[in-house]
Amino acid sequence: MSKSQIILLGAPGSGKGTQAAKIVELGYSHISTGDLLRAEIVKKSDLGNRISSIINNGKLVDDVTVLELLKVNCDLDKASYIFDGFPRNIEQAKALDEIVLQGSPIVAVYLDVSIKELVSRIVNRRTCEKCKDIYNLINKPPKNDGFCDTCGGQLILRKDDNEETVTSRMDVFEDSINPILGYYEQRGVLKRVDASINPLKTFEQIKNIIVD
Ligand code: AMP
Repeated sequence: MSKSQIILLGAPGSGKGTQAAKIVELGYSHISTGDLLRAEIVKKSDLGNRISSIINNGKLVDDVTVLELLKVNCDLDKASYIFDGFPRNIEQAKALDEIVLQGSPIVAVYLDVSIKELVSRIVNRRTCEKCKDIYNLINKPPKNDGFCDTCGGQLILRKDDNEETVTSRMDVFEDSINPILGYYEQRGVLKRVDASINPLKTFEQIKNIIVD
């Protein structure tokens, strides 16, 4: 039986990356529009140069660009995906349905956690430059300061994880999330999970939803 496509929703820092890494172990492929966009910046492609200041200011990249990037990077005939960071608005939700998913079964999982807690999580977040493992200086510090436990790569603070940009990203998120939740609620595919608790417990809730 083919698995549902998972749309992972949650504010920046709600644990989407951490949960996605666990869901991958259940046989899903992870597709993050934030990662795809950042990869373009690292490559210094025309697209990357055009979007770097938008991302570094915590604003949204235009829908056409992000949708195109998503389309070329996923193949629904080959895999079941976790869509992470997309959709960010109603237009993207509709485009995802019409252009990418085209009737595939879906489940939208919302990682529910308070904004105040999130700002503290994000400014303390560090990501491995090489393998992308995620650490938190308070809750999940690396064994060796500044270096990844898994691959030894250098841990970096994402450019858009400073307090000013985070506040702007939270404002963007708060403006957009309710209509998106309403959209999926109306379709009967929305599942809310408590993401303010231990990530393993959050994952247990997600597993109960997607492994049925
Ligand atoms: P994320 O890694 O999902 O937190 O995304 C980081 C940044 O990439 C966001 O603040 C936006 O600037 C941009 N971005 C990621 N996904 C999207 C999207 N679906 N639509 C527009 N911009 C996006």
